[in-house]
Amino acid sequence: RGSWMTRLKSGLRKTGSSIATVFTGTKIDEQLYEELEEALLMADTGVKATQHLLDDLKQRVKDSKTTDPAAVKGLLADALADLLAPLEKPLVIGEHSPTVIMVAGVNGAGKTTSIGKLTKHLADAGQSVLLAAADTFRAAAREQLGVWATRNTVEIISQEGGDPAAVSFDAVTAGKARNKDVVLVDTAGRLPTQLHLMEELKKIKRVVTKADGTAPHEVLLVIDGNTGQNALNQVRAFDDALQLTGLIVTKLDGTAKGGVLAAIAQERPIPVYFIGVGEKVEDLETFSAKEFAQALLT
Ligand code: GDP
Repeated sequence: RGSWMTRLKSGLRKTGSSIATVFTGTKIDEQLYEELEEALLMADTGVKATQHLLDDLKQRVKDSKTTDPAAVKGLLADALADLLAPLEKPLVIGEHSPTVIMVAGVNGAGKTTSIGKLTKHLADAGQSVLLAAADTFRAAAREQLGVWATRNTVEIISQEGGDPAAVSFDAVTAGKARNKDVVLVDTAGRLPTQLHLMEELKKIKRVVTKADGTAPHEVLLVIDGNTGQNALNQVRAFDDALQLTGLIVTKLDGTAKGGVLAAIAQERPIPVYFIGVGEKVEDLETFSAKEFAQALLT
């Protein structure tokens, strides 16, 4: 665990260093709070979460009676950890057989990589996994998912040029018949122009429910932590359309916009099941509010 914290810490350095400089002065005054406000906004914390953190921090400073700016940084870490705490929730597998997990995300967010990482994570934990290649529009997506399936020796339902909803239906049906623990449905992140992504995803969700009345059990969105407020906009749009149950936030190993997690906590506190901290298959970690706040602010 030590190494990924180091990676997260150095990855968040771009975000953290601009915030840290605020606390290098000698006085706790209005100027410090103004500079902090600016640094938080620059880190894509968003107006509401920034205001919340500043109000909370001022109260903590008052209660602690400290006069040392360096101590304020620690208090900010506490305030941030409290704000992020609702995002900390484990992905539970085993309540359904199989647990059907639909995964969405715009192209480039790191969806395919994250599904590969998640497949390995689940397989390592002894879960039997079936992959569904429901991004039938992009040949490369299907191929890439096939590579992950082979590498982890898990089965895959994939059909060249097939209908995404039909592939998803078949996968859930096969998952039940073959007694799989988990069915992971990879969906498209972009469609050929005339088609509407959200309608396509809603259709997949409906059809999955037809195959199994309680499914999907999880609807995850993969977002690129490096895209800040853009990622928050994606959370809003996908949540409105699909009622998300969880997030995977990628690329936290090199972002100046790590504040976006606070913005998400403030506006759409959807659990962050995993964070991506690198391109390698083992670079997937469970999210801890306290560790994240510490990595950012120490
Ligand atoms: P997709 O289009 O959403 O399926 O995105 P991909 O999974 O193909 O990932 C896009 C790029 O982001 C690839 O070069 C990945 O290696 C990279 N990537 C994905 N997750 C992470 C991460 O957590 N950290 C870093 N540094 N790169 C990542």
